[in-house]
Amino acid sequence: MAGDKLSKNLEEIRARIKHVAERSGRKQEEIELIAVSKNHPVAMIEFFRKKGINFFGENRVQDLLEKDGQLAGVNWHFIGHLQRNKVKQLLRLENCRMIHSLDTLRLAREIDQRAEQYNKIIPVLIEVNVAGDLNKFGLAPNDVFDFVQLLQQFKNIELKGLMTIAPYVADPEKVRPFFQRLSLLREQLWAKGYHFKELSMGMTNDYEVAIEEGSTMIRIGSGLFE
Ligand SMILES: *Cc1c(COP(=O)(O)O)cnc(C)c1O
Repeated sequence: MAGDKLSKNLEEIRARIKHVAERSGRKQEEIELIAVSKNHPVAMIEFFRKKGINFFGENRVQDLLEKDGQLAGVNWHFIGHLQRNKVKQLLRLENCRMIHSLDTLRLAREIDQRAEQYNKIIPVLIEVNVAGDLNKFGLAPNDVFDFVQLLQQFKNIELKGLMTIAPYVADPEKVRPFFQRLSLLREQLWAKGYHFKELSMGMTNDYEVAIEEGSTMIRIGSGLFE
């Protein structure tokens, strides 16, 4: 493992977050860096943890559990598509801090029941398919309003915000409208009385644009680990 390379990656990303935040009149502390450790070994997680990274993202329950077994007390964010038959294993973990990918009512019901079973309230984000990409999961933006209302029945789910995965394009300017759409959706929900803060948007290729459009959580994998 090339520690020098990883240190350099982290320094660069932190500097760019700071720079973009300042340029767009935002505070650096408003933007949480989620290190997406999928496909990368626990030694690298340890490395970044020592450098002050507080949250790690995984997109497969099995991988998350395996890594959790090898490390003590990592704060995990689950960012991948979640199947209902995996919810129990995930919620049993005390240190699964957030689920970014809630996208159906059936999944919400399962999460709520398991959270109740384990006597916790689990923070979630609703995944929104802002680009209408047929290959991606997530709700259509217009369906989010009813969905948020339906979520109110679940006492063990705490809605924290919205998440999206923009299409990969060489020029990140092209995905700006998608981030703007997610940000607008949050405002529209605020106007209806649903107050939550988080916008999980931005990955290695497009996080600077996402920060300019109000992201509060960027999910960075390759830019940190590779
Ligand atoms: C892999 C992944 C990321 C990180 O992608 P990079 O382009 O490597 O930064 C972020 N979010 C989700 C949901 C992912 O699956």
